[in-house]
Amino acid sequence: MTKTQIYKFGGASVKDALAIQNLAEILRNRLRNNFVIVVSAMGKTTNQLETLLSLKLNGQEYSENSAILKEFHLEICRALFPDEHVIFPKIENYFILLHHELNKPISKHNYDEYYDRIIGFGELLSSRIVMEFLCSQGMLILWQDARELISTDSDFRFAKIDWVRTRRNCQSQLKPKLEQFPVLTQGFIGADSTGRPTTLGREGSDFTAAILAASLDAGSVTIWKDVPGVLNADPKIFKDTTLFQELDYEQAAQMTFYGASVIHPKTIKPLANAGIPLFVKSFLNPNESGTKIHSLAKTESIPTFILKKDQILVSLKVTDFTFIEEKHIHLVYEQLQGLKLRVNMLQTSAITISIVIDSQLFKLEQLLEHLKGDFEVRYNEGLELLTVLHPDHDTIPALLDGFEVLIEQNTRNTIQIVRRVK
Ligand code: ASP
Ligand code: MG
Repeated sequence: MTKTQIYKFGGASVKDALAIQNLAEILRNRLRNNFVIVVSAMGKTTNQLETLLSLKLNGQEYSENSAILKEFHLEICRALFPDEHVIFPKIENYFILLHHELNKPISKHNYDEYYDRIIGFGELLSSRIVMEFLCSQGMLILWQDARELISTDSDFRFAKIDWVRTRRNCQSQLKPKLEQFPVLTQGFIGADSTGRPTTLGREGSDFTAAILAASLDAGSVTIWKDVPGVLNADPKIFKDTTLFQELDYEQAAQMTFYGASVIHPKTIKPLANAGIPLFVKSFLNPNESGTKIHSLAKTESIPTFILKKDQILVSLKVTDFTFIEEKHIHLVYEQLQGLKLRVNMLQTSAITISIVIDSQLFKLEQLLEHLKGDFEVRYNEGLELLTVLHPDHDTIPALLDGFEVLIEQNTRNTIQIVRRVK
């Protein structure tokens, strides 16, 4: 049997009826058995579900937002299916289930678990709609609940994979189906050992594709995007971008670490370990070659620009007239780890530790609370972190035009700048 191929379609590639028709065209001549299709929620659905959750958390009315979200899905279906199609009652069902979940009590304490029960509805809806549409186009496809495959721990919202159980599930449940039919499933969602829904972190559908690939010993993964492949900068922010024809796993992983949003940061490792190539291609120009990420002896070191928005700079000054030592850094990292906050940049001076972190609901408050006993804490919000890999130093001043620089860090191959609009 030929090796499994995995295609992942993100939110933008299923954002409306035209996009779904385009997805079907991409699959029409490529689909065969031993093929897995992973889909994300449609368009901005996940953000809208997050809005529903925050309304619920604040005791506000969410029924109007939920009605808008339902109408968004129904409208897509009206363009794709005849009136009497089974997809319409299916969508009604999903929204009844969603409301049933939303009627349960929520608090700051059960928020993460609650979040995971709600947020996966986006993927469930989208995978149903895409599956039904492909079937209506004569492509017979099986629908698979990803929560039966992706086994995780109970770390809600940031669940870690139980690789052994996931592999077992894939081999015993997915493989036999794949011998006969292509299978369509959801990205981003999983379940813990007691069956409670979990999620893998925002934008986690790419990671799902990689997990399934590793667990099925797949031949390749292709991520279909609205960009031509992996570029040396985000074309929505920077002009004159260059496409990488090929990238080494390590360089790609580094780019995602610094915040390149083209692929989810956790995607590369399982593929690199198993030597499975990752293609990043444009769903707008599916016949173009895009970028191939695999093992390369040598990579081009063209300057690469990565911008992370919504950053917080936290400055921690020791209060006991000592200097910064390892124990201080250890203390800070311990608190950050407890809150699942990742450091995007770290700088120390004689008496201060500066860290740059993503802005996340509740987290800053809690971090400050934990650290104020040991440090004098100050912070700035609403910042941007610009990372330049393989910098061409002449081009840096232009990047700072109109910005105030708060801190900057240079190493031979990397410049990091924390900036805000003047
Ligand atoms: N729908 C989820 C999100 O928007 C997962 C994904 O798109 O990869 O975060
Ligand atoms: Mg998405």
